[in-house]
Amino acid sequence: MPFISDTLARVKPSPTIAVTNKARELKAEGRDIIGLGAGEPDFDTPENIKAAAKRAIDEGKTKYTAVDGIPELKAAIAAKFARENGLHYKPNQITVGTGGKQTLYNALVATLNPGDEVIIPAPYWVSYPDMVLLAGGTPVPVACGIESGFKLTPERLEAAITPKTKWFIFNSPSNPTGAGYSRTELKALTEVLMKHPHVWVMSDDMYEHLVFDDFEFVTPAQVEPGLYDRTLTCNGVSKAYAMTGWRIGYAAGPVELIRAMGTVQSQSTSNPCSIAQYAAVEALDGPQDFLAENKKVFQRRRDLVVSMLNQAKGIKCPRPEGAFYVYPDIAGCIGKTSAGGAKIADDEAFATALLEETGVAVVFGAAFGLSPNFRVSYATSDAALEEACGRIQAFCAGLR
Ligand code: GLU
Repeated sequence: MPFISDTLARVKPSPTIAVTNKARELKAEGRDIIGLGAGEPDFDTPENIKAAAKRAIDEGKTKYTAVDGIPELKAAIAAKFARENGLHYKPNQITVGTGGKQTLYNALVATLNPGDEVIIPAPYWVSYPDMVLLAGGTPVPVACGIESGFKLTPERLEAAITPKTKWFIFNSPSNPTGAGYSRTELKALTEVLMKHPHVWVMSDDMYEHLVFDDFEFVTPAQVEPGLYDRTLTCNGVSKAYAMTGWRIGYAAGPVELIRAMGTVQSQSTSNPCSIAQYAAVEALDGPQDFLAENKKVFQRRRDLVVSMLNQAKGIKCPRPEGAFYVYPDIAGCIGKTSAGGAKIADDEAFATALLEETGVAVVFGAAFGLSPNFRVSYATSDAALEEACGRIQAFCAGLR
């Protein structure tokens, strides 16, 4: 009998993390690697946030805290939701976890029974389906191709809902495509959800602050207040405040759900790092002006990457509304052979050959549930991006 559980046998390690680790290893071996795999800002955490963490250490705030977050952080989160999203939550409707990942996972573990279905628009962030599997549920991916701008349509949402649907996971701007839903597009989806009161909404708003041009960010409970009582609005400080390593994510929703998520956390990790929580208070309550500056930098990089990738033979790269990812289509490269002799049978083979022959690390599309594509994280310097896109162009030009 295998020692590893049947549940885990259905789950794979996170491919985004695998690619990031692989790039790190190759770099350590002295190879000239440009990592476009990891989804994390290259900026340093702002000084005021680091100072708040140092203060917390000096003041001895280094002990256990309330399991699902210190009152100061819950207050800062409530103020953030009111200020930025027009959403009003009491402290007992808010939970804080070790990264956005933990809050999503807690919610799934706290609610899924065997056979419960979770609708996940594809391409999706790699961890959604595997978290559903770990929690004993059934992921239901719904394909959203390049023709719909990688976005779910109301018709497809309606068709995917069954009596067993428990959650609909919504992520805008999206990891991995950067696609953002306008108010009108989101309203069309919430109208469908209003007809199905048994379906709950998990909105992953992690990329809220990374939207470009004049795109307006909106979240389901804001667009349709009728969904407030069955929506978990999830966010975190990782991407907006360049705090990926601090591991602070949070979510707000109905009291009963938040309490159940706290039970999961109290029996697994307990409180998120006390020092990181005090830093997160400063992130949310402190000056916000650098957000606009970071946005400008990311917008410039998006434009650079989209333009250079569209000049690569066999690649079509849409211009997304937000996040720091692009998700080019490489149908024009499949079936060819690389200059180094690799058969490009699928997007995984493309990404492997690209890394081996040019040193550019990207994440292959199959990991996100829509092929043939790859994900570029452009959260790295302009110089590195230009060099990497140049190498991708040369790689594509060499395909026969
Ligand atoms: N969310 C980021 C990504 O997609 C970080 C890695 C992870 O947790 O998946 O690359």
